[in-house]
Amino acid sequence: MGNPNYTTHLGMVDILPGDVERWHFIENLIRDTARTFHFKEIRTPILEDTGLIARGIGGDTDIVSKEMFAFERGDDRYVLRPEGTAPAVRAYIQHTLHQRGGSQKLFYIGPMFRAERPQKGRQRQFHQFGAEILGSADALADAETIALMHTLYRRLGVAHITLKLNSVGEPESRKTYREALRDYFRPHFHLLSEISQKRFDTNPMRILDSKEPEDRPLIEGAPLIREYLDADSAAHYRQLQKHLDRLGIPYEEDPYLVRGLDYYTRTAFELTSSDLGAQDALGGGGRYDLLVEELGGPATPAVGFAVGLERLLIVADALNLPLGGEKRLDVYIVTRGDEARKWALKHLRPLRDTGLSASMDLQARSMKAQMKEADREAARFVLLVGDDELASGSVTLRDMDASTEETVHFPEALRRMVGVAEG
Ligand code: AMP
Repeated sequence: MGNPNYTTHLGMVDILPGDVERWHFIENLIRDTARTFHFKEIRTPILEDTGLIARGIGGDTDIVSKEMFAFERGDDRYVLRPEGTAPAVRAYIQHTLHQRGGSQKLFYIGPMFRAERPQKGRQRQFHQFGAEILGSADALADAETIALMHTLYRRLGVAHITLKLNSVGEPESRKTYREALRDYFRPHFHLLSEISQKRFDTNPMRILDSKEPEDRPLIEGAPLIREYLDADSAAHYRQLQKHLDRLGIPYEEDPYLVRGLDYYTRTAFELTSSDLGAQDALGGGGRYDLLVEELGGPATPAVGFAVGLERLLIVADALNLPLGGEKRLDVYIVTRGDEARKWALKHLRPLRDTGLSASMDLQARSMKAQMKEADREAARFVLLVGDDELASGSVTLRDMDASTEETVHFPEALRRMVGVAEG
């Protein structure tokens, strides 16, 4: 067997030291933003029941029909979760979270899996931050969800974002709309792309989603859902717009923004960024008043969103936003001789117990090689320990930024380093 080629690792991406700090930054920002909105974190398993996911997302979608990583074990069918809403709803039902009263405001961060064609901004394992409000039909809940999503990008400093907004109404009003769409597309059927021809019967609203160039001119003339909205959905939509105005969150109405499934109701939204390139969607969401019931729970109106973290990092990079890099090392102990190495091993502990990061040579290398490593790790301080120091009970403390050094007892060295780290 030859060496395996790891260069294109199946659309899965490693996050290496130097990069992982950027992830911590984003994750901390997300958790802190969610905290200020009083959303609570939920963590669900990465594997879900295939049937649940198929029902939750819809068998007609690309995700379920061709992008699932699914397998069987005995009688059980598992899928690597492709999204977080169905799992969150499953947990909500399973643990009767509705009994906790009021509406539940939940969020999650984690890896999702879809067998898509990998490209920039599109991976087979990617990460999402998502939030759901379960138990409120009020347009305030939609506004609160959108505000959380919007606040994250505002706090990050991403300016060129566009919130697209639409209402897809109720299943009943959508039936009439679907018929209107079929009537409109029927005479042009032969001009539609193959995929849209398939959707003509199954779900003509999804033709409006099509990215195929031959569909675009036809879509532009299609009837708009707003002309078919039921009165309650139209009022809800107007309410939401007023709330967004009050919050100072700008939006653009996009009549072609659709979520084709019957569990989706009323609000649909998407956040895009002109700094992203071809895959310009940062995230999206909407209302899904019928999903909890569909998955076997009590009738529970709900609204939520999911945003992609890789895309968020791409935007942050495009804008040169500072996300924090690798942390420098506080102290490196450079040793000469066996006794000094033993001393160092023992003294790492009091250093670390004060909260300083501390490291030493693990390969019995020369002092020169050790100094090189201290430089490479951008150590703030170096402690030099050799026979002389051990005999006199002191250490040489080198301040790497000031390029000064002095010989002091260890407790004094410790006191000074902690002082600098805290200052
Ligand atoms: P969705 O769950 O399909 O509504 O996607 C929500 C967001 O997740 C998208 O707007 C993207 O930012 C992100 N996303 C979805 N699929 C992928 C993928 N394959 N790779 C990277 N990000 C993705």
